[in-house]
Amino acid sequence: MMNGSITPLREWGLPMAGMFLAAGPCSAESEEQLRKTAEGLKGCPLSFFRAGVWKPRTRPGTFPGLGEKALEWLVRVREEFGFPVGAEVGTPQHVEAALRHGLDVLWIGARTTPDPFAVQSIADALKGTDARVLVKNPVSPDLDTWLGALERVHNAGVRRLGAVHRGFATSHDTRYRNAPLWRIPIELKRRLPGLPLICDPSHLCGRADIVPPTAQEALDLLYDGLMVEVHHNPPEALSDAGQQLTPQAFREMLAHLVIRKESGDGLPYEMQMQELRHTVDEIDDDLVELLARRMEIARAMGDLKRRHQVSTLQPTRWKEILATRLAAARKRGLSEDFVSQVYQIIHEEAIQVQEEPMFRDADKREPEGPEKK
Ligand code: PEP
Ligand code: MN
Repeated sequence: MMNGSITPLREWGLPMAGMFLAAGPCSAESEEQLRKTAEGLKGCPLSFFRAGVWKPRTRPGTFPGLGEKALEWLVRVREEFGFPVGAEVGTPQHVEAALRHGLDVLWIGARTTPDPFAVQSIADALKGTDARVLVKNPVSPDLDTWLGALERVHNAGVRRLGAVHRGFATSHDTRYRNAPLWRIPIELKRRLPGLPLICDPSHLCGRADIVPPTAQEALDLLYDGLMVEVHHNPPEALSDAGQQLTPQAFREMLAHLVIRKESGDGLPYEMQMQELRHTVDEIDDDLVELLARRMEIARAMGDLKRRHQVSTLQPTRWKEILATRLAAARKRGLSEDFVSQVYQIIHEEAIQVQEEPMFRDADKREPEGPEKK
């Protein structure tokens, strides 16, 4: 329902040189800090200059942002440097203040997106305005929650609407502050191809050194743009010091980023790609066939275990499976983290398959009204 009615980014009335590009500090800390950072970005093709003025901090007692007076500084940055400006909003009062100061872009942060009451009250405040609004993904890896927030804002009549992928909190260690879980934004794009999708590699990475390759990764996945934290002096930043780029590092990154196209030019590209795709299709057929066979065996094992009253979970066997498969994966140069995740999913499904017969009777009964979220 949202697909046809969303305004493409090039019609948002903001500068767009090849891609949508937002940059600026995590937080507005002083007028001087904003001016120095904007000075460092002078001439960059920014769609908007960002700065948080109300900061959703995890712990009280940390820098909470400077509120409305920082909005005035942002407006002065726009006057002096010509950049459109944007900030995060978390309440209807923020929306009202940001629009009263004429901010060009508003975004809903990752901590606000999961709260339906907060998002609805922000959406209500946006009704009848022509605001440009970006919705960051929720902290937890849940596509429905992200979609729900986008729908609430869309239902309020906002048509210049986009999504920002800033990564997800997960339990396992990765090199990132917030795991990318690219499959979630890719699925969002599959469902809503008309919705602009922007990557925020800064909150995703949590460290400046891997922001550039992550930004390139997003462009390789056909994202429409980037939102990057840039501070004139990152070590002194009052929030997110480790992940902000200097203006110079940002410029270097921009100079090296390659914007990919969905398809390549010419016959050699097409022929080679056809061949590779064909091979991938065959491998995927084999994978599905092997998975089906593995689950058939799991079912047979489940029957045997039940007849002999043996538990479904066999911790020693599971430990051995994981260790041997990881060793084999290592030898083949596969990432242990990847193979371990694949095996955890396979193992979980095998347990499910073995337990299935016990649910058969329950499944025949009418459900007693499943809990609806
Ligand atoms: C931010 O953009 O500074 C911010 C607080 O990000 P997030 O909502 O993604 O944590
Ligand atoms: Mn930040």
